[in-house]
Amino acid sequence: AKTLRLILGDQLNSQHSWFSEKDPSITYLMLELRQETDYVHHHIQKVIAFFLSMRNFAEHLKNQGHKVNYVQLDQEDNTQDLEKMIMALVKKHDFDQFEYQLPDEYRLDVQLKSISKNLVIPCRSFDSEHFLTEREYVKDFFQGKKTFLMESFYHQMRKDFNILMDGKEPVQGKWNFDHENRAALKDKRLLSKPKLHPKNVSEILEMLETAQVKTIGNVGDSPFAWPCSRAESLEVLDHFCNHLLVHFGDYQDALTTWDPFLFHSRLSFALNTKMLSPLEVVKKVENYWKAHQDEIDISQAEGFIRQILGWREYMRGIYWAKMPDFAEMNFFNHQRKLPGWFWTGDTKMKCLSHSIGQSLDLAYAHHIQRLMVIGNFALLAGIHPDEVDKWYLGVYIDAIEWVEITNTRGMSQFADGGIVGTKPYVASANYIKKQGNYCTHCAYDPKIKIGEGACPFNSLYWHFYDRNRDKLEKNPRIGMAYRTLDKLKNKEELLEQAESYLKDLDRL
Ligand code: FAD
Ligand code: SF4
Repeated sequence: AKTLRLILGDQLNSQHSWFSEKDPSITYLMLELRQETDYVHHHIQKVIAFFLSMRNFAEHLKNQGHKVNYVQLDQEDNTQDLEKMIMALVKKHDFDQFEYQLPDEYRLDVQLKSISKNLVIPCRSFDSEHFLTEREYVKDFFQGKKTFLMESFYHQMRKDFNILMDGKEPVQGKWNFDHENRAALKDKRLLSKPKLHPKNVSEILEMLETAQVKTIGNVGDSPFAWPCSRAESLEVLDHFCNHLLVHFGDYQDALTTWDPFLFHSRLSFALNTKMLSPLEVVKKVENYWKAHQDEIDISQAEGFIRQILGWREYMRGIYWAKMPDFAEMNFFNHQRKLPGWFWTGDTKMKCLSHSIGQSLDLAYAHHIQRLMVIGNFALLAGIHPDEVDKWYLGVYIDAIEWVEITNTRGMSQFADGGIVGTKPYVASANYIKKQGNYCTHCAYDPKIKIGEGACPFNSLYWHFYDRNRDKLEKNPRIGMAYRTLDKLKNKEELLEQAESYLKDLDRL
């Protein structure tokens, strides 16, 4: 039967069983669509990285002898709409059946189901053969529970996939080697250069400009350097094992102006587009650690593996357990808009100007910049989670809704009321100061709470607790904060200070 098979932009999995045989009756369809460039304003590097990786993948399939129909954004017959494109092609080429891999986004899941209904030919969906668990696994695992504890899911994954196990026990007797006090980076000399893949992207850039695709962020000064093929992605993974794994856990939470990537892997884009599989990354890191146990502590490897085997897989499961309601949740009923400097980095607060500036320049910030600097501020300032989601979904190279929204609305903004986390991730200036050097270069003083030069995080922190008392006071993990707040002598002044900042966030 003449078959049309759709491959979405984040389904660049060359190891998929679809490709194990060459069949001239199968046509693979890949589309660059305005539908995808426009559902949110994306970072310019993100759009380039997706299109470039898709084009490389199509080339790879063709070289393997598969039949591929690749439609560029500027192609004349591109109607820019997924349904219209599929309908037209099925009609034009008389396809007998339509097949697709299950998408990871709710939006596309709904759309593809509707397309399948509207098509007159038989339609079939396949697993994307990427994740370690099925869509519904997390939902079933936590059946009947209000809170979904990541840690218990993670233990199960370790056992099921026999990762870092010693028989039935975790290696070295512990599941989790997270240190209470993750270190700030004190010595620049520890840093090693990232493995970049600079390339000329002027052709795609020109196409996007001509088409007037609205984007955010910059591509200008910083060379475009994201891995856009499986071969490049494997090099980034190798580089991580050889040079970065040794310090990964130690400096995972460090905040510094010295370097944007530190010891982070930069693998999220390669993983989320499925150029690499999570299991191969986890196994490679486990094996590398096993072979280098005298140099690399278990805590570095376990910390990294937990992010992928635990957090990444868990977030995906939460997404399918809680969508579409999750996207509407606003536990604190926050209503403010993001200040304009989220699109320029132009604020006097150094932690934010640095973290946002870096995000706009590189389409990248590491986890603690996303969670404890930018997300922390948005939550303390009472920004509407829709606003926060839209920004995160646009700005980061790795932002696809299933992993963006669960991290942003869930983990970072606590807008889900405690499905992902057990308490909100908020902190005052003291935390940011302790983790690195941002405060040293700041116009505000992290030690001052009230008056001239007072760091906004200090008063906003208490304002957040004060205004959300009815929602948080009964949480056993938070009660302590209220006892401290109620003992503060200058509580009223502190709240007034916060009010004055909240009146005009653009001024900060
Ligand atoms: P590393 O620090 O080297 O970690 C290795 C890998 O672990 C990552 O590549 C990623 O695949 C996985 N990982 C780590 N933490 C998480 C997590 N919390 N959830 C899921 N996977 C994780 N990650 C995305 O891939 N896309 C997003 O849109 C995204 N949005 C985020 C928004 C907020 C507010 C926060 C707090 C986190 C977000 N994350 C997101 C998770 C994490 O910050 C990024 O995966 C990470 O910074 C990517 O850089 P890296 O590859 O160098 O990661
Ligand atoms: Fe950020 Fe406050 Fe430190 Fe400035 S003083 S860098 S605003 S935490």
